[in-house]
Amino acid sequence: MDLALRAVPCATVCFWALGGSVAALPHHGLPRYDRLSPAAPGAETRLPAEVKHDGRSRMRYSFRCWHRALEYYLIESSEHTRRILVVGPSWVGDMVMAQSLFLVLKRRHPRAQIDVLAPAWSGPLLERMPEVCGVINMPVGHGQIQLKARFRLARGLRSTGYQQAIVLPNSFKSALVPWWARIPQRTGFVGELRWGLLNDARRLDKRRLPMTVQRFVALGLPADASLPPEAPQPRLRVTESCVRAALDRLALAPSAWRLLALCPGAEFGPAKRWPAEYYAEIARQHIQQGWAVWVFGSEQDVTVADAVCQGAGAGCINLAGRTRLHEAIDLLSLADVVVSNDSGLMHVAAALGRPLVAVYGSSDPQFTPPLSEHARIARLDLDCSPCFKRECPLGHLNCLRQLPPARVRQAINELLR
Ligand code: SF4
Repeated sequence: MDLALRAVPCATVCFWALGGSVAALPHHGLPRYDRLSPAAPGAETRLPAEVKHDGRSRMRYSFRCWHRALEYYLIESSEHTRRILVVGPSWVGDMVMAQSLFLVLKRRHPRAQIDVLAPAWSGPLLERMPEVCGVINMPVGHGQIQLKARFRLARGLRSTGYQQAIVLPNSFKSALVPWWARIPQRTGFVGELRWGLLNDARRLDKRRLPMTVQRFVALGLPADASLPPEAPQPRLRVTESCVRAALDRLALAPSAWRLLALCPGAEFGPAKRWPAEYYAEIARQHIQQGWAVWVFGSEQDVTVADAVCQGAGAGCINLAGRTRLHEAIDLLSLADVVVSNDSGLMHVAAALGRPLVAVYGSSDPQFTPPLSEHARIARLDLDCSPCFKRECPLGHLNCLRQLPPARVRQAINELLR
């Protein structure tokens, strides 16, 4: 910037002294006019016709050059330090998919600083996304309003100089912080009537943007831009030292045999959970073939993970409730194959690039597919699916009960071929 500011007056003097060839501008480090405005005379090699060959006219034209050049450098430098605040989603899977948006933002603004306002649990996940610069903890729990806490946070953000906020959740309350923080450009879907809070409010066309990841990516592009044919795939970065630390804390040895990871939980509800006895059968078959089997999940998944391990017998290690999120991510990166319900860990496994069989029940792989070419989908296309319910409204859960382990086994074999 200093160099640029020194170059501007120098070039102006040279330009005036030399008698006005516009083509001289680039030789003095100044930008061509045509980068600033299509109507500008940058492509010309001589002075514009309206500039007369007298001293005052040239002086005025030189001043215009100086002003435009300064404007150009200010735009460029603000672009380099562009600060963007993304209000993140509240689910692990959605947060993983948000990485596609961060990648798009980085492509558009390579030097942008992207910070994410997100629940505290998501810190370790965001730390594994190289595009994210900082994480601001949302002091309010999911579903809570707590206007005072939101306002206090927003007031603290006023001096941080964010140029844009991108609000991924559709709720009214999620758009309050960027508005109170007076961030100049506030982008998001209209959602819960957020016209006043967002000044770059987009209407969501669900037919044009059927997938969650497409909706996130669209918010990182100008309103009238078309989407890239494929959204960039999330890729979590895992280091050897982190993996080693997780293995040490849990007293696990890296398996000399192949490792099968099972993720039988789904926080959303039972209509997304493939039966525990089916998982146990897959585990049993692999243990017999000498594989190591680790079962992953949160504290809410302990019961179902216990059932899987009991059904599988000796050799199945239950890690549910024992790992923190960052450890689950790092240990999943060791798996040779992952079998998972449509859950946050499924998106994590996909973002780690592990071979993955994703089992879908009441949800729809068209809406939230695993974003990886190493994934296979196991699903029955019943008339009633997808119903998107947490519990089966018909009481039979046939979308998952009628999906036999043999189908998943076949998908695993395809991945290993
Ligand atoms: S209604 Fe159909 S899709 Fe929904 S949970 Fe029941 S069986 Fe599955």
